Amino acid sequence: MRPGLLLALLPAAAWALHPLETPQASLEAVTLIGAPVSAPTPIAAPDVALPTGQSAILVIIIDDLGNQLKEGRQTVSLPGKISIAVLPHTPHGAQLAKEAHRSGKDVLLHAPMSTLDQRPLGPGGLTAELSEAEFRTTLGAALASVPHVQGVNNHMGSDLTRHTEPMRWLMAELSARQLYFVDSRTNKNTVAAAAAATAGLPHLSRQVFLDNVAEPAAIAERFRAAVDQARQQGSAVVIGHPYPATIAFLQDVLPQLEEQGIHLATVSEVLALH
Ligand SMILES: [Zn+2]
Repeated sequence: MRPGLLLALLPAAAWALHPLETPQASLEAVTLIGAPVSAPTPIAAPDVALPTGQSAILVIIIDDLGNQLKEGRQTVSLPGKISIAVLPHTPHGAQLAKEAHRSGKDVLLHAPMSTLDQRPLGPGGLTAELSEAEFRTTLGAALASVPHVQGVNNHMGSDLTRHTEPMRWLMAELSARQLYFVDSRTNKNTVAAAAAATAGLPHLSRQVFLDNVAEPAAIAERFRAAVDQARQQGSAVVIGHPYPATIAFLQDVLPQLEEQGIHLATVSEVLALH
């Protein structure tokens, strides 16, 4: 991506920030962000787009790591404080988790959970058919297969995350191990975050999927939506995947975030803020 692309994204964030302002005020905001209409001065510090005192924090989690070493290593090598979610019992999951931990990234277990359309879950899959003992044993083995694990998010799970009782078992187990939970929100009727709250577990919920369409323009549009949300609400939680287009996009955009007033944070850092 060209260096100016993020700058090009930001005027939309400014518009979103002041939806009720007059066109003139919005135009002013756009100019301030750096469009060199007439000002001879260097591009203004982009963080003028942020209201005073309001920080914008972006949490980026890359899911589905463990089966492929090359894409996994490219993800772990991304600059900055992203978090990675590792599938259990995978050929490269443990190695990638160690490397991510060494580079200051959060490591999550990406726990496979049953779907409404009954997709194959792979090893360590959690379903509503498991007894409580089977559920806890399966989860425990999955957690043990990923070193340095700090939390869990769900892989798929459009079925299981609707079920109160297994979500209660999950959160009890995570609470006992002092792990956090991130609800990937693969079903709008998920009860996972509510179960985490009931259990007193530190938790977050995904707001934006970065690459449901894994093409550069679509990824850029989703990223802009995440930045909009982070600027308006203080933070946003983004989930992506180790697709070539996603990795290439993040390689370009991540080094530019700080100068735009957007702070990357791992899940554990954000949870400690609250
Ligand atoms: Zn997944």
